[in-house]
Amino acid sequence: MSPTTECRICSGTVTEFFDLGRQPIADAFREPGSTAEEFFYRLAVGTCADCTMAQLMEEVPRDLMFHQDYPYHSSGSTVMRAHFEGVAKRFLTTELTGDDPFLVEIGSNDGIMLKVVAEAGVRHLGVEPSGGVADLAAAQGINVRKDFFEESVALEVLEAHGRADVVFSANTFSHIPYVDSVLAGIRALLAPNGVFVFEDPYLGDIVAKSSFDQIYDEHFYFFTARSVKNMAAASGLELVDVERLPTHGGEIRYTLALSGARTPSAAVRELLAEEDARGLTDAAVLEGFAASVARNRDDLVAELRRLKAEGKRVVGYGATAKSATVLNYAGIGPDLLEFICDSTPAKQGRVTPGTHIPVRPPEAFSSPYPDCALLLAWNHADEIMAKETAYRDAGGTWLTYVPEVRIS
Ligand SMILES: [Zn+2]
Repeated sequence: MSPTTECRICSGTVTEFFDLGRQPIADAFREPGSTAEEFFYRLAVGTCADCTMAQLMEEVPRDLMFHQDYPYHSSGSTVMRAHFEGVAKRFLTTELTGDDPFLVEIGSNDGIMLKVVAEAGVRHLGVEPSGGVADLAAAQGINVRKDFFEESVALEVLEAHGRADVVFSANTFSHIPYVDSVLAGIRALLAPNGVFVFEDPYLGDIVAKSSFDQIYDEHFYFFTARSVKNMAAASGLELVDVERLPTHGGEIRYTLALSGARTPSAAVRELLAEEDARGLTDAAVLEGFAASVARNRDDLVAELRRLKAEGKRVVGYGATAKSATVLNYAGIGPDLLEFICDSTPAKQGRVTPGTHIPVRPPEAFSSPYPDCALLLAWNHADEIMAKETAYRDAGGTWLTYVPEVRIS
C-alpha cells in the first residue's frame, strides 16, 4: 500500500506515487564547515483522489525556505528578465488601463516585474517574505511589504490601498501550502472584474519530460488545468484562461477571476480535454513517470562513474534549487562532480545542500575547462550554451538528464 495523507486543498485522500527520499532544503547552501545541523525531510509526491491536485506528502516549515538570505534572484537570467518585462507590459496595456489601477505581486523577489509597472507610474505593491531580495526591489523605488501573503495581510493591503485589478504571482503560488488563506485573501482583494494571474511549472510538462527535479521543498503543488479549476471553484474563483509558457522547463499561466465575472476561454476547455485524454493524474501514468525517472537516475550515475573511470574531469553548471533534488536522489557528491559553478555570489564558496559539492564562481569553469559539464540549470540550456561556445570549441561536452541522459 502506498502512503496516504490529507489533501491541503479539499481534505480528500492523497496517495503517494513518487518517493525521492531524504532531501535537504534545496536553497540551503552552507559554509563548508557547518554542514552538521542540516535539516532533512522525506520528499515524496502524491495526488488527491477527489480534486486531482498533485502535492508534496510532507510540508517543510516556510521560515526554513524563505528568509533574509534566500539566494534566488529572478533578475539573474536575461531570458527571465525579458519574460517579466513582457508580462508587465501586457498588464499595462490590458488589465491596468482603467482609472488609477493597482497591481499586487505575491513573491515579487528582486522586483524584476514590478520595476516596469513602477516606471509606468502605476500603483503597485510587492509582498515578499525573503528580506534580502525584497531590499533589492525597495532600493529601486519599488513598493514592497516584507511578509508572507495570506488572508490577514491581504485585508490590510485592501484597507490601505483599495481593490486590486491584478494580483500576479510567478513561481511562488505553487510554493504555498496554505492556499485556502491565500485565495480567500485574493478574493477579498480583487476588484469585481479583477484577475489573479499566476505562472508555475506544469505537471503535464514534468511528466512528459521526466523533469523530476522540478520537485523540491519549495514546490508544494504541481498544477494542472483540472486541479486549478477545482481549487478555484472551492474558493469562489473561476479558471478563465490558460496559456502555455516555455519558462522553467514548461509552465502554465493561469488566469482566475471571481466566479461568473468572465467567460472561460476556449484554451481552458482544450487543455482540460487534453489532460483527460492523457489521463494525466491517473495512477498508471504517474507510476510510469516515477519508473522512468528511476531509470534516468541510474543512467546518470552510470555515466558519471564511466567518465570518472576514464579519468575525465566533470563539473556541474548551475547550482540551482532543482539540482538539490537530482544530486541527493542520485547520491552524487564531490567524488563524481568536482565542483559546481554558479553566478550567484551568495552561493559561491559554500557547498551544495545534502551533497556538499563546492560551489565556485563562473570563472572557475574556464580555468581550465573540464572535459564534461553536467547541466543542472537545464531550463536555461539555450542561454547557457549560447554563452559557452568557447567551451564547446575547446572540446567540452554537456551532460543532460532531462528528458533522458545524454552527452552532446
Ligand atoms: Zn483534494
